[in-house]
Amino acid sequence: MSTISHNIKMLAKLVVKRSFWFHKAMNEIKKFDNMSLGEQRAMQLNLLERTLVAAAKTKYYSSIFDSLPRFDNPVEWLKTIPYLDKELLRTKTKDFVANSLFTTSAYTSGTTGTPLKLRRNILSIAREQANFFSWYNTGGWKSDNEMIELRGTMVVPVNRSEPPYGIRDYVFKKNILSSYHLSDKTIPWYINKIKKTGAKFVSAYPSSAFVIADFMRRNNINPLNLNAVFLASETIFQSQKDVIEKFIGPVYGHYGNAERVAWMTTCSAGYYHENINYGYTEYIPLGDNTYEIVATGFINNSMPLLRYRTGDIAVDPFGRQHRCACGKNGPGCRKIIGRIDDLFITSDGRKIGRLDHVFKGVNNIIAAQIIQRSLEKTEIKVVRGNSYSKKDENLILENFLLRVGENVNVEFNYVNSIPRTKNGKFRAVVSFPLS
Ligand SMILES: [Zn+2]
Repeated sequence: MSTISHNIKMLAKLVVKRSFWFHKAMNEIKKFDNMSLGEQRAMQLNLLERTLVAAAKTKYYSSIFDSLPRFDNPVEWLKTIPYLDKELLRTKTKDFVANSLFTTSAYTSGTTGTPLKLRRNILSIAREQANFFSWYNTGGWKSDNEMIELRGTMVVPVNRSEPPYGIRDYVFKKNILSSYHLSDKTIPWYINKIKKTGAKFVSAYPSSAFVIADFMRRNNINPLNLNAVFLASETIFQSQKDVIEKFIGPVYGHYGNAERVAWMTTCSAGYYHENINYGYTEYIPLGDNTYEIVATGFINNSMPLLRYRTGDIAVDPFGRQHRCACGKNGPGCRKIIGRIDDLFITSDGRKIGRLDHVFKGVNNIIAAQIIQRSLEKTEIKVVRGNSYSKKDENLILENFLLRVGENVNVEFNYVNSIPRTKNGKFRAVVSFPLS
């Protein structure tokens, strides 16, 4: 994508992302943050009730609600409803749409390798933006501050071997750098670019930030000392966090999902705190202090998802009465294990994280996994849905080669299921050259 076409696209997005709804959402968040704990809890129950009422308009929930008792307390009401599995949402997507007015489609590759097509309305898009905005604010960022972004956006062709490895976004005042060109040869350019822009803030995939920080560590490069590194969309490992904090700047962690049912961010003590005006989170025990995150989102009433099983794992959750080491109250948890994908290594030395994007927007997949057998050979495992066809295979292959380049031999392997790791996590990318 060229700088010009990117900026034209962003101008169109500006209409929604900085709209009346965006400012309204910002005000609501500010108001909520100034409430007492009791008022906040009351607001959460109110939002939960509104979500349940919105869900009653969908085909799926209206039939369920008919057969269940309705309680005045929305939490009791919620708990009568069965958990919602990804596979059911994937196969019956339309039954979950409450109102398709002013909505757009959104695609996710999902933590469990199951791509989904979701509906979102303008309000929820603006609200998500406002949430990111106020999260960045907690790290000291203001809207006129420069930002560096390294979040898997495909901004330059994969076969480019000369700088620049990114583009300027004039609309949102940031430099978007490629997550697909990070190698020992190119990283010095990235470091210089960060210095030249004078940006003090980075928004990145943990894998992209780590690849840069680790290069700096190996080559004894002076730390960048930025004000904040905002990490989202992947599991943040302590070992990676330590290197990023030492060489780039203090880490602010985020947990969320494309289904938009839960939002948590890390505090000064490194624990995750829930935004209780965003959703209602439950934790299903899995043993060994681990719990599956199951959540009900408040912010997208065009597709309300109740008790949605995210497939992500929380460690040591704590309730709203619990006072965290940072001084604030819960609810939250000590650690979140979401994606645990390997980095994909290319023959020209690039290290790529979050490659599961290649399954985004591909229909008819129940689950999928990329297994890098060697630098030259990759296996793509797919559990096919009923209508899967050669067209879907071609699209996966095209998406894959667009990100890693042409020098890889790809073999598709159709299987009935994809095994999980010992602790029950799904790995979308497994790389043997790495281990
Ligand atoms: Zn805390």
